[in-house]
Amino acid sequence: MARFTLPRDIYYGKGALETLKTLKGHRAMVVVGGGSMKRFGFLDQAVNYLKEAGMEVQLFENVEPDPSVETVMRGAKAMQEFQPDWIVAMGGGSPIDAAKAMWVFYEYPDTSFEDLITPFSFPELRQKAKFLAIPSTSGTATEVTAFSVITDYHKGIKYPLADFNITPDVALVDPALAETMPQKLTAHTGMDALTHAIEAYVSTMNSPFTDPLALKAIHMVFDYLPDSYNGDKNAREQMHYAQCLAGMAFSNALLGIVHSMAHKTGAAFSTGHIPHGCANAIYLPYVIQYNAKDETAKKRYADIARSVDIAGSTDDELVAGLCKKIDEYNVKLNIPKTLKEFGINEDEFKEKVATIAEAAVGDACTGSNPRAITPAEMEKLLTCTYYGTKVEF
Ligand code: FE
Repeated sequence: MARFTLPRDIYYGKGALETLKTLKGHRAMVVVGGGSMKRFGFLDQAVNYLKEAGMEVQLFENVEPDPSVETVMRGAKAMQEFQPDWIVAMGGGSPIDAAKAMWVFYEYPDTSFEDLITPFSFPELRQKAKFLAIPSTSGTATEVTAFSVITDYHKGIKYPLADFNITPDVALVDPALAETMPQKLTAHTGMDALTHAIEAYVSTMNSPFTDPLALKAIHMVFDYLPDSYNGDKNAREQMHYAQCLAGMAFSNALLGIVHSMAHKTGAAFSTGHIPHGCANAIYLPYVIQYNAKDETAKKRYADIARSVDIAGSTDDELVAGLCKKIDEYNVKLNIPKTLKEFGINEDEFKEKVATIAEAAVGDACTGSNPRAITPAEMEKLLTCTYYGTKVEF
């Protein structure tokens, strides 16, 4: 038996934010990030709509990128004092992820992060509050997913939390908020969304429920991402929906080793952080080449290629065509082809690659990848992404 879970309601389109006026409740805690929602006036709008709905509102502001355990605990404490019956999280992935974790500790103050590491083992939420999410970036889709990532900076660990209990009750997907994204973020988050959809489609957990969502998301990213990157508002709106569809797919079908590699290389090098979506965009064509050695996965990649009208008379040609198309998009979006081109130092890469490979194999996303991988193979694969060599094993 399998399960497929989504938010109860998704409101989308211009003006979706106004739905806040109709929310039924008494007290809303609004969780936001560093200030762009405030600067662009969306925070004030949201607060006013909630007040129009007759709610008392309290803000929890300044959630940092890659939110910490401390921020989560401070937020949970603020919630315990304020006793909200709605948690409204707005902004990029970080404030929404943080708010999801705050929600758990608000409802279960005696639980610990260690208790929550086991996926799909959370206590029953919604005893005190419901959860509404409003995304301002078009990539993580945390507004519809069962996931949240919290960082323990003291222990140097990321806790990937996963449970359908933290799938929001309501998502407001309003394109006006996504118009605020800078160009580079548009490219990276867009390729993150494409990776979500492709990994979900070939995942060992794929299903007839997730496939149509993944395929439609892939079509839309290919159709709209370049124009969205170049500032076209309609394309930006369509990308906001595409990433959400991809999120619905991967929340239920899970991901694969593109994400395992991105997770473990993101903060690994002294030359600076590799943005999540940028890392995914670099790795995706190499992982497709690796996974396509598995016959079932190859057929699925060929399905994707056919559905976006890539020419080819054999599955191998179709898979090669798909990789070529992704390469072309990366060029259009100014995303490098290799880690070397990204600026990772060669000696540092060689020194660290074995440890990173081992960690990537152990990542939570490796389990649903369509082809198994050993640390030695992962090391070879990462080396291909460094130098841009073809994956032939
Ligand atoms: Fe991602």
